[in-house]
Order: sequence, then C-alpha cells, then structure tokens
Amino acid sequence: MDEAEERLRSDEEEEEEEGEEAWDDWCSDGDDAAGRLLCLFCSSWFDTDSSLFEHCAAEHCFDFHRIVNELGLDFYGCIRLINFIRSKVAENKCWSCGQSFSSNTELCSHLHGVDIIEGKVQWEDDVYLKPFMEDDSLLHSLSMDDDEGDEECRISVERGQCSGGNGVLAEPLGNKLSTLTEGTVSDISAQFERECTIGSAKGEDRESLAHETNDSQLKVARASVNARAVKTVDDNYFGSYSSFGIHREMLGDKVRTDAYRDALLANPSLLSRATVLDVGCGTGILSLFAAKAGASRVVAVDGSAKMASVATQVAKNNGLLYDENVKAEQKQGAQVISVVHTKAEELNQKIQVPQNGFDVLVSEWMGYCLLYESMLSSVLYARDHFLKPGGAILPDTATILGAGFGKGGTSLPFWENVYGFDMSCIGKEVTSTSARFPVVDVVASQDIVTETAVLHSFDLATMKESEMDFTSSFELRLSESGTVVPGVTWCYGIVLWFDTGFTDRFCKEKPVLLSTSPFSTPTHWSQTIFTFEEPIAMVKEESTIASSALVGTDECPATVLRSRISIVRASEHRSIDISVETTAFSSNGRKRSWPIQIFNL
Ligand code: SAH
Repeated sequence: MDEAEERLRSDEEEEEEEGEEAWDDWCSDGDDAAGRLLCLFCSSWFDTDSSLFEHCAAEHCFDFHRIVNELGLDFYGCIRLINFIRSKVAENKCWSCGQSFSSNTELCSHLHGVDIIEGKVQWEDDVYLKPFMEDDSLLHSLSMDDDEGDEECRISVERGQCSGGNGVLAEPLGNKLSTLTEGTVSDISAQFERECTIGSAKGEDRESLAHETNDSQLKVARASVNARAVKTVDDNYFGSYSSFGIHREMLGDKVRTDAYRDALLANPSLLSRATVLDVGCGTGILSLFAAKAGASRVVAVDGSAKMASVATQVAKNNGLLYDENVKAEQKQGAQVISVVHTKAEELNQKIQVPQNGFDVLVSEWMGYCLLYESMLSSVLYARDHFLKPGGAILPDTATILGAGFGKGGTSLPFWENVYGFDMSCIGKEVTSTSARFPVVDVVASQDIVTETAVLHSFDLATMKESEMDFTSSFELRLSESGTVVPGVTWCYGIVLWFDTGFTDRFCKEKPVLLSTSPFSTPTHWSQTIFTFEEPIAMVKEESTIASSALVGTDECPATVLRSRISIVRASEHRSIDISVETTAFSSNGRKRSWPIQIFNL
C-alpha cells in the first residue's frame, strides 16, 4: 500500500470511527462529510478553512494568509496555489523546494517556512486552475468579497456564505471541473469507475486498475481510459449526427444555410475552379453549393459512416458525384464531389490529399455558445494539414458576444401566472437551477437590458487550438432600451451568442455575416443563458443611493457590471466549462462581488 493510499485509508477508518458524530453533524446543520476540508499536507480534516489554515501554519510551516497577502494573490492565484500544493503533496514533493520523499510522513517532517519573493511563482500555469482533487471543498470556500475596496483575497468562513439572497449555492467548483484533473492516486479508482460508465470498460480493466499502486502505471492506465472515453464519446457524437432530425434542423435553419450558400455561391473569384475540402459534410449541402459554384474538385469528409454514405447518395442523385471511371471528356456538369468516411484528422490515411493542399476549407463547426462540441479543433487540424498556405477558410472569423438580460429572459414570468394561478415557487426553483446549468434558448431582444459586449474574437485563419480556451473581462451598462421603465432595472444574468464572418479577406465579392444574436432572426443555436444567483439592480446614471446598502440592491443599484468569463474545454470530450464572475459598481464608487459561478455545457 503506498503512501497516498494509506492516507486515504486512514481517512476512511477515521470517518468510520466518527460515524455517529458525522450523523449528528448531518442532523444538526445539514453539513456532510463531502463538505469537510482535507489538510493540504496531511490526512487531517477540518470543518472550516480558517481552522485548516491555522493547522497548516502551526503544523506544516505553511502560512496561507501570509503568502496570499504578501504576493497579493487574487482568487485565481489562491486556487492555483492550492491545486499546485495538492499536486506536489500527492507526489510526496516539497511544494516550495521541490525535494522528493518516499512517504507523506517524511515530507511532513521536512516542510519548512519560505521567504516570499515577488515575481514568477511556480503555480502560475493555468493547469493549476483545474481542481487537483475531486470535490475539493477547500476550493468551494474561497471567495472574493472586496466591497470595502481593498484588493485582498478574503477567504470566507462558511462554504458559499456569500451566495446571495436566495441562499442557493453555485454548482460546487470541483463538481464538473474535477473531471479535468489528472487523477490523484487516491481518487483514481473513483474517477475510473465514473469513466467506465462512459467508456463501458471491461471488468478486468477495472480490476487491474484497482490493484495498481504505482503512480506511473496509474497514469498509463488513466491515459488509456481517457482514450477509450474519447472514442466512446466520439462514437455517440457521430452516432447522434446519423439521425436525420439534426440535419433537418440544420438545413431548415435558413439563417445558417443561406449564409453558407451566399458565401459559396456569391464569391466566384474564390470558388471558381478551386479545390475544396468540406470538413464534416453531413448531408453534403456545403459540397453541393461548392460544386454548383464551380469548384474543380470537392472532398467531403464525415466521421459518421451513415452521413458519408448519405452524402454520397445525395451527390450522386444530383449529378455531382465524382466518378473516377468516367473519362473527363464524358463528364457531365460538375461531377466533382468525392465523399470520404473518416475523421478529418485522418484524411491523409484515406486519400491522397492534393500535394499543395486544398484552396478552400469550408465547415459548419459551430456549436451552442460557439464552442460546445469542440469540432473547431478538427477544423484547425484540417487547416494546418490539408489547406494550402494562404488558402481560404470559411467562415474566417468567429466572435462571442454577450449582454445582460432582464426577468423576461428567465422563466419567472411564465410561472407567475399559469392560467391565473401563482406558481412562482416553481419559477424560483427553476431559476436557481439555471444558476448552475446554462440554458440554451432564444432570448427576445426586448429582454436584453444592457449594451452588448464583445467577449472574444477568433481569427480562424491563424488561431491556434490552445486559443480555444480564453478568459474575457468586460463591462456591462444599461442600454437605452433597458431603461424605458423609470427606476431600477434588474439584470438576471448574462446571455452569450456568437457571430461568424465570411469576411472580404476571402469573400471579395460578397462578404457574409452569420449572426446568432438576440437582435437577429433566431437560429437553431438560440442563445446560451447564464443566470446569476440573484438578480442585480442597475440604473443608467447617478441616482440617490443609500450609502450603506449592498451594491446591486434597490437601495444601491449598480451602474456598471464588470464580468469575467472563462470558457475552457472540459475533459469530457466536446463539452466546455464556463466560469462567470461578476462585480457590481455603484455610482458612489462602491462595489460588490459575487462568488464565482461554474457552468458546464
Ligand atoms: N456540413 C453539414 C453538417 C454540419 S454538422 C451542414 O452544414 O449541414 C457537423 C458534421 O460534422 C456532422 O455530420 C459530424 O458527423 C461531422 N464531424 C464532426 N467532427 C468531425 C470530424 N472530426 N471529422 C469528420 N467529420 C466530423
């Protein structure tokens, strides 16, 4: 039994011994063992972060508050530091000097104080934003609350204490993001169990993993579990595209399909006699447009066997399928389309890709909130491997935008009057769930209460895959239309959408914009709605405000919301994690921050 296992085992025994006490605790205050905090260094558990950090200072020469203050760590800095230390301790390494030990006991007796030197710290890497330990309650207890104007990172005593008026906690930070971690030795079996349910791993794999105690072997085992999980998710994903309903929906989305049709058909200088690669052809619609636009050759690829065969049939039935057995002079019309059943990444294993690459790459890769589905990485791969240098990518820009929405963007008005009955209790429950799970739905333009902000723009011709993960800070102020009603306007959350551009960089004759904005005709992408834990009162301009009231309430409405949103790919292949941080500023210079909200899509 290795050290980490021993640590876990002794925790379990301790918990068993404390069984009755734990039950008492549960009865008395509703707290459960999962909410308890594990020491950063040893196997002691604590009920509050303050007692944990006191213990760390007294027993392990680790003064968290001193480090936070002296380095001026912000919320993310604290998260990184904790995950960094946990990752080092799991390997029995000293977090400050890096020395390795053969046991946790040896490590604990080695731990020493540190001189805080400002500058580059070892935990700067964003990899430490991912919870190292599954359901790490210590991370839940961190919050920024600098209403008093100081920039210090304060650690709240109670978990979720600052969650706001309705008392609903945000989705625990570790819950979804924990799947991003490389498993620790101690949580690997649980992690494996969970992934087996996705990956339907065979019993013997589980068996062998449960007996692994060697760290490096575990990593290998986990890597293969991940590959299997990715494959299964891919299978499901491509399987889901085989159902025609989704293609019907995409083709029936006129805004979407017209945008591609216009970009392909109305730009002859780009398409005429061009070689075109259609990444993720589905029914083959984009290839059909390209063929009609005069392309000399179109290769349509799809990872779904069903769709590849359907696209072949469709191209054939429309007289556009390439047939190598038909001599050039006998070809009728634009018989230029070849369909290849393959993942785009493996295209060159299936066909001889043109030596210099394709002239044009076209793909409809966008998912909800732009990045859900992560098909973009396949498009970027195809761009880098199969598009000729300087070749055109359609679309070539993508921008994520957002704005604050009012009550009409929630389901509250519906529940307030159901056939004349008040069911607002249901509405409240639904809204609090929406504060943890994004809602994909159409938001009417009249329910947008703030100006629009641009969160992030991608240049698809040049961006790297790593740039798919980003953090954006932006400000929201009430829009003119949001202030038609005098008095405060309540902002219930932030709605995101995207625009994609077929710009004049490649589409010289007719640039096209495909917008999924609430101010445009709705598309099948709708918008993606992120609801706050509690609505925030806003006003357009200076107003008489009670100086002592909380910012964002009736008595002290905010004039500006400053928001920080991160969107990162989740470890569950093709899904994304979104964090939303909000700070409200009042006209008298006061501010209030809410705890970070974590969503998974
Ligand atoms: N181009 C079609 C379909 C778009 S839906 C249209 O505009 O209507 C996306 C398609 O891409 C699906 O059919 C899916 O099976 C395929 N796809 C997704 N990732 C892929 C990949 N990595 N390689 C090949 N095909 C992929």
